[in-house]
Amino acid sequence: LVGADGAIRPTIFAEMSALAAKTGAINLGQGFPDEDGPAEVLEAARAAIANGVNQYPPGRGIPDLLSAVAEHQARFYGLRLDPGRDVLITAGATEALAAALLALIEGPDDEVVVFEPYYDSYAAVVALAGARLVTVPLRWPDFQPDLDELRDAVTDRTRVILVNDPHNPTGAVFSAEVRDEVVRLADRHDAVIITDEVYEHLVFRAPHVPIATLPGAWERTLTISSGGKTFSTTGWKIGWVSGPADLVDAVLAVKQFLTYVNGSPFQPAIATGLRLPDAFFAGIAATLRAKRDLLGAGLRSAGFDVSTPAGSYFTVADARGLGAVDAADFCCALPERAGVVAIPLTAFATPARRGDYATLVRFAACKRVEVLEEAASRLSRSV
Ligand code: PMP
Ligand code: GLN
Repeated sequence: LVGADGAIRPTIFAEMSALAAKTGAINLGQGFPDEDGPAEVLEAARAAIANGVNQYPPGRGIPDLLSAVAEHQARFYGLRLDPGRDVLITAGATEALAAALLALIEGPDDEVVVFEPYYDSYAAVVALAGARLVTVPLRWPDFQPDLDELRDAVTDRTRVILVNDPHNPTGAVFSAEVRDEVVRLADRHDAVIITDEVYEHLVFRAPHVPIATLPGAWERTLTISSGGKTFSTTGWKIGWVSGPADLVDAVLAVKQFLTYVNGSPFQPAIATGLRLPDAFFAGIAATLRAKRDLLGAGLRSAGFDVSTPAGSYFTVADARGLGAVDAADFCCALPERAGVVAIPLTAFATPARRGDYATLVRFAACKRVEVLEEAASRLSRSV
């Protein structure tokens, strides 16, 4: 089973983390933090386990977390969600994406428009759902889509426009023009917008703007997020999807048969996290921004050309000046050559467009300062 364009195969994250483990290299490949998040959140999970919150929670999620998601979206974005109808808890953003796409796709003529390069599960789930993937390229170094190419991609066959903002792997935050055009096109062609905003609090320039807050967007938008990035709990797999009740119900219908429910003691803990004061959320963005700058400076001094991400865990660097011809070969050799693991951008692209990303490499900045410094010094010495 490989899906269209080989979309269903061992993920690049498993492959590169295994390489890091085998070689002892510093893992700047897979995006996960190497430190724990807020103590209150960890303690709330311990307390829930001790208090017997260990059996199946309700299918939509525990009411306290549904309310916490709604409160969080009111506090940061002014959205008014009905927690009992407009929110669904999922096994991470990954399940939310899968259940939403499986719910919305009706047949092989349906098209899903995604920005390329894309988080790898997008193409895999579109293949599993039996739809057609249509991609709009994002180009080095600013990775904003061309609006004409976006308009050409969206047609009456488009069932879903799948957005990821802030964007993995490029770190781009889409401009207001791009967001507005997505909403206009979805309206014109009667498509649903699925927007993956897992990095909503990891933005470095301006506050995050959810697509669902734009005029005309709410009624056709499913917004996906996750506690993993915001609270440094990627292993807990507590995510959520929010939007109009009829769309959320369709996602719930599928979710029941994927995982049924998930993570009962982690749900009250993520609710605790979502209710942390504003200073916590500002603090994680400021900390990651400083790490982005440290990583960027290290990569530049090692000879990479470096883009400046506006959000997310990631920085993309061009290794052409270091003699790279094929980013996959470069990344496979990098652990032996320099003791660092990174991910080739080609892993997030369709075969037809891999040439556009041939020398680009993604590095994760979500690591301790001393780890980033050591990685930078190894790269400067060895590449
Ligand atoms: N979407 C994007 C853009 C991601 O980077 C990730 C992963 N880290 C996910 C979804 C998956 O999130 P989760 O771990 O909550 O399933
Ligand atoms: N989202 C993280 C990344 O892009 C990890 C994803 C994963 O391991 N599936 O690196």
